[in-house]
Amino acid sequence: MRILVTGGAGFIGGNFIRYMCKTHPQDMILNFDTLTYAGNLESLANVEDVPNYHFIRGDITSKHDVEQIFRQGIDIVVNFAAESHVDRSILDPAAFVRTNVLGTQILLEKARMCDIQKFVQVSTDEVYGTLGTTGYFTEESPLLPNSPYSASKAGADCLVRAYHETYGLPVNITRCSNNYGPYQFPEKLIPLMIINALHDQPLPVYGDGLNIRDWLHVEDHCRAIDLVLHEGRDGEVYNVGGDNERANIEIVKSILKQLDKPESLIQFVEDRLGHDRRYAIDASKIRKELGWEPRYTFEEGLRETVQWYVNHPDWWENVLSGEYRKYYDQQYGDR
Ligand code: NAD
Repeated sequence: MRILVTGGAGFIGGNFIRYMCKTHPQDMILNFDTLTYAGNLESLANVEDVPNYHFIRGDITSKHDVEQIFRQGIDIVVNFAAESHVDRSILDPAAFVRTNVLGTQILLEKARMCDIQKFVQVSTDEVYGTLGTTGYFTEESPLLPNSPYSASKAGADCLVRAYHETYGLPVNITRCSNNYGPYQFPEKLIPLMIINALHDQPLPVYGDGLNIRDWLHVEDHCRAIDLVLHEGRDGEVYNVGGDNERANIEIVKSILKQLDKPESLIQFVEDRLGHDRRYAIDASKIRKELGWEPRYTFEEGLRETVQWYVNHPDWWENVLSGEYRKYYDQQYGDR
């Protein structure tokens, strides 16, 4: 099989490529990424020389680039490429519509012309909107996105569904809860808090810190995508979540405890606009149909992740320069 992984230089895509190179050495993995601020080939240094891995720089919003990559012969597409950070979508929604909606449509169109065997769209639980204190998102929950990011992902999901219904393209959509693990860009909650704590810098927590997310270790997510691309029923959506609901403030306190840093570093900041209160995933469909089970407990995964950042300052110090520094100062002020 020749598997096109878009956005493979990002957090989840990179973890997926390392996982696939190890578990499916017979498949060819083509990483297609335009290398935005979030794309980092250093995360793939340990597969660079693996014979079944190949990187091609390209943009999913460019018909020319997509045409070129499909010329190499593609059996399966796994689309991770996206603008992925909610806060940035509030500052610049247009970039999200362009990459997440238009880029996905360009890929779908080429995939349909080339008769591929499967198109997996990596989506998010955020397309379902927000929950109150009870209940779970199922695959039947209505799409009620609240941020420009989640609206653009919902738009892409609708196009993926339409390409299946209209043209019979064999697609799956996975909707996953918040991922954490190694190589995550430091603008996201867990790495941001770890790195600030290591520097004895304030840890900015939105609002009252009681927003709840349902966390999943990135490796458990990668195994779910692998199962879906091989065994998912065409046209189906699969929710992926680890039953790990945690309030943001709980996570921040656990990180401080592990690093032996004081809670006085926590600094509550003005809440994110339109901040969803709670996400919680009902993943019983993928568990029952495909036999998927998460392997990590949240406590074990978080411990390992904190340790990974402690052991890899070289990776995140490079990331923390230039463009990201400008964005961070705009978001949280120059503290
Ligand atoms: P990320 O921001 O770390 O990586 C995105 C990657 O896409 C980067 O390498 C970037 O260079 C690349 N990219 C951006 N625009 C591109 C374009 N036009 N053409 C080609 N490549 C482009 O994101 P992530 O956290 O790894 O998320 C990957 C996917 O998973 C996204 O689609 C996201 O919506 C989804 N998702 C993420 C989470 C999460 O917790 N991180 C949860 C559920 C779903």
